[in-house]
Amino acid sequence: MGDFDDLLSANRDFAGSDFDFGGFDGVAHAGVALVTCMDSRIDPLRMLGLKPGDAKIFRNPGARVTEAALEAIVLGVHLLRVERVLVVPHTRCAVASNSEETLRERVAASAGTDATWQRFHVVEDQAATLGLDIHRITSHPLVPDTVKVGGFIYDVDSGLLEQKY
Ligand SMILES: [Zn+2]
Repeated sequence: MGDFDDLLSANRDFAGSDFDFGGFDGVAHAGVALVTCMDSRIDPLRMLGLKPGDAKIFRNPGARVTEAALEAIVLGVHLLRVERVLVVPHTRCAVASNSEETLRERVAASAGTDATWQRFHVVEDQAATLGLDIHRITSHPLVPDTVKVGGFIYDVDSGLLEQKY
């Protein structure tokens, strides 16, 4: 007990003051779904000029289009009014700038125990991997051609998106 008190206190303020999402539906009001990295430098809604309620957001290390990401995209497209999908990895991403071995070594040093069995799915060529991930979406049998899919790199230093695909 107590480990989360600061966050729960902030949550009570959030719910109490001007909470206006009650009774809200769960569709993507701007028709947008976003796959991006877990990186704390990314503010996925604000960087696209969106607000809560506008977009479906799926995050993981490296912004990878995993099986779970595809599940989210298919649900978004068919049940939650998603019309455009953005895949957005970013500059200076840990999983795109370390080798699998380096990450294992760093985690092992922190954990004080063996980490050679843990996979991190590092990305060796970020742009090429983004292209493959975009293809995983566009070639998915349950993602119709009417859905627009774009691949972008987010620059964590300038805040700008650069479209690659
Ligand atoms: Zn990252």
